[in-house]
Amino acid sequence: MTEERVPRTDHGTVVIVEDDHNIADLVDLWLRNAGFRVLQAAEATRGLALVSTEHPSLVLLDIGLPGPVDGIEVCREIRRTSQVPVVFLTARDDEVDRVLGLELGADDYIVKPFSPRELVARVRAILRRTEGSRRPAESPITVGGVTIDTVRREVTTEQGAVQLTAREFDLLAHFAQNTRIVFTRRQLLDSVWSMGWIGDERTVDVHVRQLRRKLGDALPLKTIWGVGYRCD
Ligand code: CA
Repeated sequence: MTEERVPRTDHGTVVIVEDDHNIADLVDLWLRNAGFRVLQAAEATRGLALVSTEHPSLVLLDIGLPGPVDGIEVCREIRRTSQVPVVFLTARDDEVDRVLGLELGADDYIVKPFSPRELVARVRAILRRTEGSRRPAESPITVGGVTIDTVRREVTTEQGAVQLTAREFDLLAHFAQNTRIVFTRRQLLDSVWSMGWIGDERTVDVHVRQLRRKLGDALPLKTIWGVGYRCD
């Protein structure tokens, strides 16, 4: 790895969403050696949570993920709120056809098995290309009849501006940035409160109740009995 012995500087954060730990760990190691901060997720929900909370410079996204949400759906979700460069890791050529045919706004794809050296080079090339062309500020997000301006931290419905507490706002923004994904109360505590937050899971219910009271029918938030909540 002599070529990789470059001065360690912070080149930004890369999120890897990949259920094959061998691949994820290998990519992780090479990117770290190249000066990146690396965060791993083994499934879609965690991956989307990392993208929305960590604001990575780039996302490496496996298509074949475990569970109901595959990498292609994850990319669609990311694109609803973010222009972060996305690179698909694909296992087969027919997946490449699918990715290209869908015009998902992915920035590149790499077919497995790949050389980690090549992957690092591709990541660097994409970041060079996209640097400076990023949007200056994130546009407001709309879910149902609710518009959320994450820069100004303002929420409006047809009835006008709605006053939320900081935590209510963060919870609403999290739902809005991750629509159609079911979150357990524990996952919400980890993402919106903080990792390992030791608290009663009913705290989430209390905040959800407040959001429903303040936003009414404009908020398309469903209770998934026995599991948690989903915003559509
Ligand atoms: Ca996989």
